Amino acid sequence: MSEDIDVSSRPVPTDTALLKDGDWLPSVNFNDRRPTVNLSGSGAIQRPTVKIDLLLLHYTATPTNDYALQLLTTPEGGVSSHYLVDGRGRIIQMVAEKHRAWHAGESEWAGEADINSCSIGIEIQNQGAALTRLPAYGVAQMAAVTELCADIVKRHKIHPKRVLGHSDVAPHRKQDPGAHFDWAGLARRGIGLWLDPESSGDNACPDLQEALLMDLQNKFVAIGYGLEVTGELDQRTVQVITAFQRHYRPSRVDGKPDFQTIRLVDQLLDIIKA
Ligand SMILES: [Zn+2]
Repeated sequence: MSEDIDVSSRPVPTDTALLKDGDWLPSVNFNDRRPTVNLSGSGAIQRPTVKIDLLLLHYTATPTNDYALQLLTTPEGGVSSHYLVDGRGRIIQMVAEKHRAWHAGESEWAGEADINSCSIGIEIQNQGAALTRLPAYGVAQMAAVTELCADIVKRHKIHPKRVLGHSDVAPHRKQDPGAHFDWAGLARRGIGLWLDPESSGDNACPDLQEALLMDLQNKFVAIGYGLEVTGELDQRTVQVITAFQRHYRPSRVDGKPDFQTIRLVDQLLDIIKA
């Protein structure tokens, strides 16, 4: 779709004032945003207009920044994101925000499956969980991520409940940006949501019967997670619990529906519905 575009001649986008000279490295991997198809409710509903209302955060899972850039900009890489924040906090733009970058892949949130069409994607240079220990994000890098998120959220009026990690929208196959990501720090700047795990009881695990599990699954669906309500602690449910914990209770990510996790789910729903 984009092979015939002369990337080098594309003008520098004016989306954000945070971009410095030379930090526009255009990718060939993009296309037009499409009206999003909503899978929930009675039949598919086409949104009347294309809308940018979700911010999706990733880690690159690459050993170096250069390798990440290669994947994110070339036809061989076949993927892209709007921005990359390197290890030192440099912000690089690769796709104009008006275009659809290719970062979410097979995903789902709040009944929508084409997350690329409604989102802006930020890749953060980090080796990811391929190593035994996920390397922490650096201070300068996290500061740059925060500034960029603040800028995007403000310009597009993105609701805090739609600032998400890749693992939230693809819990069956993704772990990024991982349990080390500072969601609490972002939330202090009004970006995304954060709960207080410490005030939410212990990690004891109740023996959830079918009705209670259905109740919990319904709550995850109401938050936005792509999940079938089965009344069973099936593989997908464990993956969604794991993704939720990675985001909101990173001190213990085990996929178990313990009391603390259940209370945090209730807290998050209260905030979203308020
Ligand atoms: Zn990702």
